[in-house]
Amino acid sequence: MNIAKVIVDVPASSINQTFDYLVPEKFQDILQTGMRVIVPFGPRKIMGFVVGKSSESSFDKLKEIVDVLDLIPALTPELLDLGKWLANETLSLYITALQAMLPQVMKAQYNKEIVRMTDSELSSEFENLFAGRDIIAYEEVEGSAISYYQLQKAVQDGDISIDYLVKSKITKKHVTMIKPARSPHLLEEAIYDLSKNAKKQLLLLQYFLEKPEAIAKQQLLKALKTTDSTVKALIDKGLLESFQMEVYRNPYDDDAFARTVALELTEEQTTAILPIKENISNEKHDVFLLHGVTGSGKTEVYLQSIQDVLDKGKEAIVLVPEISLTPQMVKRFKGRFGSNVAVMHSALSVGEKYDEWRRIQRKEVQVVVGARSAIFAPFENIGIIIIDEEHETSYKQEDQPRYHARDVAIHRGETHQCPVILGSATPTLESYARAQKGVYKLATLSKRTNEKAMPEVEIIDMRDELHAGNRTMFSRKLKTRVEQCIQRGEQIVLLLNRRGYSTFVMCRDCGHVKECPHCDIALTFHKNSSQLKCHYCSYEEPMPVECPECTSDLIRYFGTGTQKVEEALAKLIPEARVIRMDVDTTRRKGAHEKLLTQFANKEADILLGTQMIAKGLDFENVTLVGVLTADSMLHLPDFRSSEKTFQLLTQVSGRAGRHELSGEVIVQTYTPDHYSIELASNYNFNDFYLKEMAMRKTFQYPPYVFLALLTISHENKIKAVQTAQKIVQMLLKNIQSDSKVLGPTPSPIPRIKDRYRYQCMIKYKNEPDLRSYINKIMDIFKDEMRKEDLQITVDMQPYHLM
Ligand code: ADP
Ligand code: ZN
Ligand code: ZN
Repeated sequence: MNIAKVIVDVPASSINQTFDYLVPEKFQDILQTGMRVIVPFGPRKIMGFVVGKSSESSFDKLKEIVDVLDLIPALTPELLDLGKWLANETLSLYITALQAMLPQVMKAQYNKEIVRMTDSELSSEFENLFAGRDIIAYEEVEGSAISYYQLQKAVQDGDISIDYLVKSKITKKHVTMIKPARSPHLLEEAIYDLSKNAKKQLLLLQYFLEKPEAIAKQQLLKALKTTDSTVKALIDKGLLESFQMEVYRNPYDDDAFARTVALELTEEQTTAILPIKENISNEKHDVFLLHGVTGSGKTEVYLQSIQDVLDKGKEAIVLVPEISLTPQMVKRFKGRFGSNVAVMHSALSVGEKYDEWRRIQRKEVQVVVGARSAIFAPFENIGIIIIDEEHETSYKQEDQPRYHARDVAIHRGETHQCPVILGSATPTLESYARAQKGVYKLATLSKRTNEKAMPEVEIIDMRDELHAGNRTMFSRKLKTRVEQCIQRGEQIVLLLNRRGYSTFVMCRDCGHVKECPHCDIALTFHKNSSQLKCHYCSYEEPMPVECPECTSDLIRYFGTGTQKVEEALAKLIPEARVIRMDVDTTRRKGAHEKLLTQFANKEADILLGTQMIAKGLDFENVTLVGVLTADSMLHLPDFRSSEKTFQLLTQVSGRAGRHELSGEVIVQTYTPDHYSIELASNYNFNDFYLKEMAMRKTFQYPPYVFLALLTISHENKIKAVQTAQKIVQMLLKNIQSDSKVLGPTPSPIPRIKDRYRYQCMIKYKNEPDLRSYINKIMDIFKDEMRKEDLQITVDMQPYHLM
């Protein structure tokens, strides 16, 4: 018997369970593990991954595989294993883990078509199938004489291609190419045989005698000022042939990047790169923490390490935070490695992402630079994995599977026996502690390559401003400095340390705050549409004219959103030209880049924005950085709030004076004595690390303990509480004596989309069986989860404690 073991796309089936299916005759020659298939499951037909094959099954009455979705496996054997590991680590379903590794378009869509890739005569079965057409629906194979094996072979030979439909558009683009069908001396003979007035044909043949390579038909017609019919005449004579070539939608014009060469490394860089290079040449796996101040040349270390990897014929994965995948960042990599680089990030269209993914799958590139999910790049011979700005929380996925890209990187690094580099100016406490213990190897770059000092940071106590009667959000000093800066023709970056949409609506008479009727969270005010919106469930309503509680008309919007700062700025310094960058102004595709280009072209004096302007930007003309509210993050209910504040202040300070002009940083705060603000202003990472570690030890937080967060939600509040209580009891019975279970408590946002949310947190040092306890608990509630819509989510590495 020919049996396939399939992981099916049923979100409720228990983890890692495979189902056996019979492989029908027609698929037997082609089916490989890692391919996606369609199988019957109950009354439905669903998608699944083949994860193994077998000649026997302990079940009788097996059902048959209905269809095979891939002719080339979508997942490599390594990725199948990685998926199993990922599912275990994050307590998610195997199917969810596998799907997380594939580009969007391959997750749900089953619509496919077959594209003819050549004009040469195909076998009669295929000619009958195409019947004169170039593209046909995939389903047409079903009724034809063609076997799947033939289909697979035709794909491998490049005669046809199977494409996924993206929103009913063809996923791939094709161009018609022309090339000689005969050897040069036969072409020469043909030239003698041409009739005298076939001048255009002569021109074409002479062209191909000189340049026998394939050329796009459009380009050929234009270059030789000839016509389609001339080309066709020569094709009919069998002298030329045409074929379809796939062109990738390349979101970047590779030729536009000026090529760079390796710089001579500084002493510090040389010391840092040496053990990495040794790792590469000895095919050894170590994790390196590259701790380097902004501008110390970390990227150059990455580039030269990657060069070594490429020289060995291996591949490189580089992760950068989504937000810093700016053209500036892409340029560094494309500049060094040209079209050998694929770029993967969320601003690409679904089709573009799919194309980039396939360039990787087909090994047409050796380097991928991408955001979090690029860690699953289907390379098979990885020589280095780099995570830039390793402290960024965007490397943690906040959805199932709740993985951290750093862990996946290290796992793949072990598998491929290659180095993993974590780079940052402000490493996480977790990573730095590991480096201190020698688990990671620490390399330090303490100087900027241009030998320039980091810009001076001045802390302004905003309480003094209030006492002096200044009620604006700009200190007198910041205002003066901004004005001076504009006069000198230099530019300014202003950071609002808070999300742009934090404007809420409150009644000045009774203090009533407008909340979402479905979620326990304040609605936010959007000025452009004059609407109140919920950012959790997208509920909206118009801005009320009077308070719904006390009917006062003194209902106003509050909070210092970027919009408000922009307005205040316009009043205070009317001559300033401001570009505002926040979630609202960057929602549209390409908007982010456009605003940055405008700023780089000096179309504005001030770049005003949230976190997203703190990273990776490098503008020559910026000499002043202002932080409006340094402490607004300090008061969030999150044990990492000091760390995040320190990181953000350090990052944003690095934006000033990176080039010839020297820079200045002004930090406004109501808590000037807080250690994270004080130490960030001195760029004193070491003291911050020591101080913060002491805090973590006292309050027992990572890296001294591990955390796991369980969130229980249900429409019925009592049901949610009771389930949470039961779970806490069960956990308490199982854990070690030095572990703790906290809760249940309402989640920081106690209700979202009409579901009540309770959480409990486990703090532990060593619980080797924790995952299996939690799995057992989940199993106990399995029926309630399925039938009563109870939800239990587990996060084994919580970052947002919400
Ligand atoms: P980081 O990634 O640590 O912030 P970068 O790699 O962006 O630092 O380097 C900062 C600047 O220094 C860049 O303009 C880069 O081209 C330059 N640079 C890096 N290494 C060298 C070197 N060895 N010699 C001269 N300039 C260098
Ligand atoms: Zn009121
Ligand atoms: Zn809501």
